[in-house]
Amino acid sequence: MPTTSAPTTTPLVDGFGRVHRDLRISVTDRCNFRCTYCMPADGLQWQPADTVLTAAELARVARRCVERFGFTSIRLTGGEPTVRADLPDLVAELARLPVDLSLTTNGSRLARLAPRLAAAGLRRVNVSLDSLRPERFAATTRRDALADVVAGIRAAVAAGLAPVKVNVVVTRGVNDDEVVDFARFARQEGVVVRFIEFMPLDADHRWTRASVVPSAEILQQIDAVFPLVAQAPGSSPARTHRFADGRGEVGVIGSVTEPFCSRCDRVRLTADGQLRSCLFATDETDLRAILRDPDLALRAAPSLPGDTRAADGTDPLDRALDHAIEATVGAKWAGHGISAVSFTRPTRSMSQIGG
Ligand code: SAM
Repeated sequence: MPTTSAPTTTPLVDGFGRVHRDLRISVTDRCNFRCTYCMPADGLQWQPADTVLTAAELARVARRCVERFGFTSIRLTGGEPTVRADLPDLVAELARLPVDLSLTTNGSRLARLAPRLAAAGLRRVNVSLDSLRPERFAATTRRDALADVVAGIRAAVAAGLAPVKVNVVVTRGVNDDEVVDFARFARQEGVVVRFIEFMPLDADHRWTRASVVPSAEILQQIDAVFPLVAQAPGSSPARTHRFADGRGEVGVIGSVTEPFCSRCDRVRLTADGQLRSCLFATDETDLRAILRDPDLALRAAPSLPGDTRAADGTDPLDRALDHAIEATVGAKWAGHGISAVSFTRPTRSMSQIGG
């Protein structure tokens, strides 16, 4: 009889020494908004339903990342994750894992869903909101839903999904005059507002460098009205600043002007089961094929010298997933290279990858 030993956890380290512990799962590529900087007015060609991973398939990859590679956080995103009907069931499944489980949403369905998601084990939410002015909100999202989103944010706070973070993509000439209004909103609503630089991932290819509002400028605008105190950098890409009077905090994420690639610990799973080592990666690894084809899984799960997984009784499918995850992260680039002349945009936009 073969002897089996307990499976071990091995940190997932790339060629630049970065340890990966954060899994972003896109649960759907569909969205009920059509934000101008993200999606065309008519939407995109949605993934056929049978190519989207089931909750069980998503959970299997997640479990591997946590149990085999020691991941500590999982964030669900999309598309808009709350349009997926079985989201509360998926949350309940993932909540069994010892991770910080969070969700990124446009907030439009949170007023109804926040209590259920909190009861299912969700810990935190990030709500995307780019304007506090109803007409501008409607023009940006192509939906008249500002009141729903604000109600959703309040429902998330009431449900204890704390800290509720509100993510604002700041775009020159579009909403850069609302930065101080958002800082005030953070203070009034008891949420953390984080300002994000516009990235070249929009489906309509409107991004230009001139449309990026640098994080430093955003902080200056706020500090002039509500003095800020910079906090020591943590592991998060957001640079956090507390209000000097103690009434909360804001953050800036300078993905373009202050890239945090050297500290990146993320991998991303798209709704159709493709693993990406970076938002801007041009390669993907097909985990769906492994999940759905036991023969392929067997062929993709070689027993490498020094690999104890065959001996420790690890299922061949899990071993195949392990190898695919390791190979993807092993090939990760040093940085996204947005500022390099050689920069190539990925073919998928943010909503298709999972932001
Ligand atoms: N629907 C959910 C939401 O609204 O949060 C999750 C998906 S959405 C693609 C995730 C985040 O990506 C949102 O905060 C959105 O504002 C942001 N985003 C989309 N396109 C972007 C771009 N080109 N640059 C920066 N952020 C972008």
